[in-house]
Amino acid sequence: MTETPRTALLVIDVQNDFCAGGALEVRGGDRVVEPLNAMIARATARHEPIYATRDWHPADTHHFKAYGGTWPVHCVAETAGARFHPGLELPGRTTIITTGDTRDDEGYSAFEGHTAEGRNLADELRRQGIERLYVGGLATDYCVRHSVLDALREGFHVVLLTDAVAAVNLDPADGDRALDEMKRAGADLRTTGEVVGSQTPA
Ligand SMILES: [Zn+2]
Repeated sequence: MTETPRTALLVIDVQNDFCAGGALEVRGGDRVVEPLNAMIARATARHEPIYATRDWHPADTHHFKAYGGTWPVHCVAETAGARFHPGLELPGRTTIITTGDTRDDEGYSAFEGHTAEGRNLADELRRQGIERLYVGGLATDYCVRHSVLDALREGFHVVLLTDAVAAVNLDPADGDRALDEMKRAGADLRTTGEVVGSQTPA
């Protein structure tokens, strides 16, 4: 009997401020919700763990333009903009990973974040025996990219879900460049249709 690697789903920053009408809207951000819901349903059916990151900034973080950073104000802790997209069907058992919640933390990588108990993501995944991650969310060229590259560095196998991500594209080629970089670093690129449609434990 072949053993299936223990797998988890990692949903990155699907929050109102990154979706349509948000403070830092990612074009096409809303489109990730439906494929991610399909992956959530798959993980639920297989009793696989689900992790969801949230960008969760203090109002005066150095990450924001007004305090010397790059970005307009977004995802301030406890505000409506920081809530998950209302269409995202995260079950109550989802483990929330909070990122960027100190003034000096940009919060680009899920692996710099922490659980409510203060554990970092890599430790949490190893504690659960996870070897492989399905990853989707926002945005391809920032938090998804940083999280995937860190996951690979930490030794996890990563399947990046190409139809469940969207890019900021400050430069129009940034999203494609990020996909290419993740692939070269060892990530498998697949659509959710390929994953959900396959009967074999791929
Ligand atoms: Zn941020």
